[in-house]
Amino acid sequence: MFNQTPTISIVSPFFNEEDMVNIFLEKTYSVLLEIQESFEIVVVNDGSTDSTLDLLKKAKEKYPNLRIINLSRNFGKEGALTAGLEKAKGEVIIPIDADLQNPPELIKELIVQWKQGYDVVLAKRINRSSEDALRRIPAHLFYKLHNKISNTIIPEDVGDFRLITRQVRDAIKQLPENQRFMKGIFAWVGFKTTVIEYKHVSREAGKSSFHGRKLLDLAIDGITSFSIIPLRIWLSIGSIIALLSFLYGSFIVLRTLIFGVDLPGYASLVTMILFLGGVQLISIGILGEYIGRIYKEAKRRPSYIIENEY
Ligand code: UDP
Ligand code: MG
Repeated sequence: MFNQTPTISIVSPFFNEEDMVNIFLEKTYSVLLEIQESFEIVVVNDGSTDSTLDLLKKAKEKYPNLRIINLSRNFGKEGALTAGLEKAKGEVIIPIDADLQNPPELIKELIVQWKQGYDVVLAKRINRSSEDALRRIPAHLFYKLHNKISNTIIPEDVGDFRLITRQVRDAIKQLPENQRFMKGIFAWVGFKTTVIEYKHVSREAGKSSFHGRKLLDLAIDGITSFSIIPLRIWLSIGSIIALLSFLYGSFIVLRTLIFGVDLPGYASLVTMILFLGGVQLISIGILGEYIGRIYKEAKRRPSYIIENEY
């Protein structure tokens, strides 16, 4: 079961998941043993501050084909996942969350589809009911907006849980950006893809590290990584405003010529100044967002640092 190139690599990021370590490994192992292919489980400890790492190290005695990649600090899920994907040796690689929200039993189904000749097998959740509306609705709007303004279509309700072949992984490795929006990157590389469906379940233990601000950041990252429409849109808005101003200006000039000068007009003046000021601030903000990304990208920092491997 334990050789240099296993058939299946499971890749799982762990951030403060001490309650999940043993439950996760037990469940995943039993599924993998049923499949009867050689496998490895690559877990990435993403700078956990609880006992996740100790528990993982201890678990290694029981589960020999467990590999632990320990990052030097918390790099965020995208960085941790990237680390795991790059370290995985299997013919097929399956990223899966540590919290068992992606049911491991589905791995069997993913493998079946792979054997039918697909390079990418997506697992799409058919219910998001385990999440509250506060997260579900913005998520839906995000996918709608993203897919409208980006050439890279991200399938809705497909998380990072999927199967990819090593060839797809190698393609992903070629994308050098260090601000990694994995959903978009996965979608961007393409390959022969199929979808299976599953029911997303609630977390068995621990709590989600994504809410509010962090999700908003992820959404902005996603859009600015894969679309430049927010920059271009100002060309259209600017043109429309310029055209309207021209028409209005002509109207005022004509009116002055015909009816003479009249002083009132303060209200329309103030309205226009304020409106244009607002439009300009928004567009500067969006420029800033992209320049910030260029700045971060230009530094060429890696998206993760490995402290140790066990
Ligand atoms: N995770 C991580 N680094 C982080 C946050 C999360 O590696 O900074 C891992 C976490 O341990 C879990 C997966 O990413 O395995 C998904 O995280 P979570 O369940 O918090 O996200 P949600 O399911 O709510 O989207
Ligand atoms: Mg989760």
